[in-house]
Amino acid sequence: MSTFSVIGTPIGNLEDVTLRALKVLAESDLILCEDTRMTKRLLDRHSISVPTKSYHMHSTISRIEEIIGLLKEGKNISLVSDAGTPGISDPGSELVRHIREDMKEEISLGTLKIEAIPGPSALTAALSIAGIACADFTFLGFLPHKKGRETLFKEIAISDRAMVFYESPHRIIKTLQSLVEHLQGDASIKKITVCRELTKIFEEVVVGSPTEVKAYFDIHADKVRGEFVVIVS
Ligand code: SAM
Repeated sequence: MSTFSVIGTPIGNLEDVTLRALKVLAESDLILCEDTRMTKRLLDRHSISVPTKSYHMHSTISRIEEIIGLLKEGKNISLVSDAGTPGISDPGSELVRHIREDMKEEISLGTLKIEAIPGPSALTAALSIAGIACADFTFLGFLPHKKGRETLFKEIAISDRAMVFYESPHRIIKTLQSLVEHLQGDASIKKITVCRELTKIFEEVVVGSPTEVKAYFDIHADKVRGEFVVIVS
């Protein structure tokens, strides 16, 4: 019997980890990490000493085959990303898909279990404090840099649903500018919520019309850093 555990880990504050996540990590034969050095901080903080190996967006098929081989030997393997939930704009889904396809028989015989150990995600953290009616929302992950970008802004402008996406400090100003341009006629009804550095020292939530939020970050250039979740509602 082997288990492949997909584990949510903190998005900033190292105390945001569930008891179950720590237990499963500590009992794993191997922990797959997006960046082993990054995960080591979490493991050290909780005195967990388990072998780690990297699994990231550039991992090759031979790494996937190696992981499947270990699961077939009965090893218990955990997967974490640098922050939050693997598979949510992070590596993981491809690996899980391969395991599901290549180990169908073991899964149906009950000798392999793929389990979720739920934990933090910037997506749910942002929605939980935005205070918007978002029973119905669309998550866009990261916006495309070129192809499809304009079309997406047009979709955001006409959508009745809350639209949520991740953004980097390098692109947040450009993105806010695009929102100002595309939502211009709509500025009175569309609200932007920018959640920055969630669970960290400089956590903040900026709410307003596209123009107001853009102006805030233009004035406070020192706040154009860190990690961002943007909600258009
Ligand atoms: N898998 C992660 C999750 O479940 O949230 C997301 C990983 S994605 C590669 C990284 C992006 O998530 C960042 O660029 C940022 O947009 C968002 N993010 C991660 N941590 C965050 C935080 N503490 N505050 C705000 N946004 C964050």
